[in-house]
Amino acid sequence: ELSVQGIVRRFGNVTALGGVDLDVAEGEFLTILGPSGSGKTTLLKTVAGFEIPDEGAVFLGGEDVTLAPPRKRDVGMVFQNYALFPHMTVARNVAFPLEMRGVRREEIRRRVEEALRLVELQGFGERLPRQLSGGQQQRVALARAVVFGPGLLLLDEPFGALDRKLREGLQLEVRRLQRRLRLTTLFITHDQEEALIMSDRIAVMDRGRIEQVGPPAEVYARPATRFVADFLGESN
Ligand code: ATP
Repeated sequence: ELSVQGIVRRFGNVTALGGVDLDVAEGEFLTILGPSGSGKTTLLKTVAGFEIPDEGAVFLGGEDVTLAPPRKRDVGMVFQNYALFPHMTVARNVAFPLEMRGVRREEIRRRVEEALRLVELQGFGERLPRQLSGGQQQRVALARAVVFGPGLLLLDEPFGALDRKLREGLQLEVRRLQRRLRLTTLFITHDQEEALIMSDRIAVMDRGRIEQVGPPAEVYARPATRFVADFLGESN
């Protein structure tokens, strides 16, 4: 599970994160909502290890990873613009995190096949990314993110570039996969309906702080602050 404790991150005189505490339980799907610039991506990057906080700590599975580089963290990621390697086949793309971890060749072949089956892309291994649709490419990215059995999955607007129909298909697929693998997941979206459908809990951020965390029904029914009420009301 994930525990974020008192994280502060400043860029010059901008405070991107102003003291964030967040616990995500094992197997839980937690979504972060909030306006542009509220700190969502900075929070995910801090958890992933691409940002080192000025203050506070990040614990993964009980271990303090605040200063650990990304490759030393047990974290899989899918970002909106986290492209596949264009010159590598689908299978090589999915194999990449396993190769980085020194997994043996036969084991890699088996795990890649299994991951591609999980996202219903068996038989696509020898294609190049550009020979796939946008939705299929995001499914490959998802297979790559889960292939090594990470303790935590980070999703930053993974469907942002896709049309509505593809989005809906992928929402179901991600949730099914997440449940099946019991993956602890931190998800960022701008789509409140998506958050409502997919999440065990949602966290609403504003100006580098978490305003409220709770099950979607509760947050919608009983917004804790004026900001949360206005923010959730706005786009409905
Ligand atoms: P969006 O929904 O638009 O992606 P966000 O909620 O993810 O926004 P962040 O990207 O985390 O917001 O940014 C939070 C604040 O920190 C913003 O004011 C942003 O301009 C600033 N910021 C983020 N990264 C940097 C950086 N590398 N250098 C300077 N400022 C940054």
